[in-house]
Amino acid sequence: MTTATTTAPEFISACTKLVSKEGNTEYPLKALHICEETFAPLEVAYDYDLIRRHVTRETIEAGPNSIWRYRAFLPVTGKDVIDVGTGMTPLVKSHRLARRLGLKNLYIKNDAVNMPTLSFKDRVVSVALTRARELGFTTVSCASTGNLANSTAAIAAHAGLDCCVFIPADLEAGKVLGTLIYNPTLMAVKGNYDQVNRLCCEVGNSYGWGFVNINLRPYYSEGSKTLGFEVAEQLGWKLPDHIVAPLASGSLFTKIHKGFQEFIKVGLVDDKPVRFSGAQAEGCSPIATAFQEGRDFVKPVKPNTIAKSIAIGNPADGVYALDIARKTNGNIESVNDAEIIEGIKLLAETEGIFTETAGGTTVAVLKKLVEAGKIDPEETTVVYITGNGLKTQEAVQSHVGEPLTIDANLDSFERALERSRTLERLEWQQVLV
Ligand SMILES: *Cc1c(COP(=O)(O)O)cnc(C)c1O
Repeated sequence: MTTATTTAPEFISACTKLVSKEGNTEYPLKALHICEETFAPLEVAYDYDLIRRHVTRETIEAGPNSIWRYRAFLPVTGKDVIDVGTGMTPLVKSHRLARRLGLKNLYIKNDAVNMPTLSFKDRVVSVALTRARELGFTTVSCASTGNLANSTAAIAAHAGLDCCVFIPADLEAGKVLGTLIYNPTLMAVKGNYDQVNRLCCEVGNSYGWGFVNINLRPYYSEGSKTLGFEVAEQLGWKLPDHIVAPLASGSLFTKIHKGFQEFIKVGLVDDKPVRFSGAQAEGCSPIATAFQEGRDFVKPVKPNTIAKSIAIGNPADGVYALDIARKTNGNIESVNDAEIIEGIKLLAETEGIFTETAGGTTVAVLKKLVEAGKIDPEETTVVYITGNGLKTQEAVQSHVGEPLTIDANLDSFERALERSRTLERLEWQQVLV
């Protein structure tokens, strides 16, 4: 009798320590996020030689169809991870939006359909809660602009962790309901995100909870690297020429960059320059303003925009995002609320993808950069769509027309159809004159 043995991809943990982003002070892999000497954020370091010895394109391809195929690059030490199918979202080659904008090689990374809560935040939370469990936390929490609350509540429910999340009280209905359904404790704070965040820093110090984006932030933010890894793999193990992504705290932007650099470092892709361009809403654009004014520091602002999910007035990783945009020959642009709505509609009408206000911001900035000649039509450009439009319906409610209500008979249908065609013709004539 013969027995077939299949060897599962070897399990390795390559994270080694936390290191200050300024200076080289080192810390153990605990729930720490700020360097005591420089007050700079801490970042996870890895043994890249170990990764290079164990990880190949083939071992990754044989892994799970989720972010955990890249687990060697993620800050977890145990075997058990929280895998709710997060990641491996579609990278779509754009035809109609590309043609509309005059681009030849445009791709859309569609995290509007990420699992389980339809935004890129599921990536960072899957990693943060896995690490939280390893560190022994039984209650998890976050300061959220909306999507993070959805993700934390959902994935905590899945993992059986207690959950208390904090949001600004004026969030969209879809984001509030999309959190409450998982039955966490939900604190709606009368204030903006920056005030919510400050409150959470105080709570974090005294309650011993795992705040995914505060004391667990070094682990949380590593989850965003998978947005870089997946794009490289999905392009056939190649890096793009240019990426356009939204900026709130600036974390996601800097981690896509770190992801590309790590793939180069371990030999999974060839080295090449990638330009990094960032998108903000004019009503909360502290990083774009610093970029335009040539400053290397970010002045906090008070947010006032429909793009609530990216409305962070005092961005924790703003200076690092600025630095990456500058050194990669990219740009950081902002667009106003009307342009954001146009961006949402443009993506929906050309590609069949309904994104939320953050995605509308990114598409509108993409358009603005193309029109300003800041994206070459030949460049392989990837635009990151990070959230789902069903969660921010009030932003477009009065901009989508109305259904034609008819009686249940053919005659009523035909009259309505004729009326709508006449209206369309009139609209066209108005466009033409
Ligand atoms: C949180 C969020 C972002 C930006 O995240 P940062 O890492 O803080 O810059 C972008 N898009 C959506 C939809 C988000 O919810």
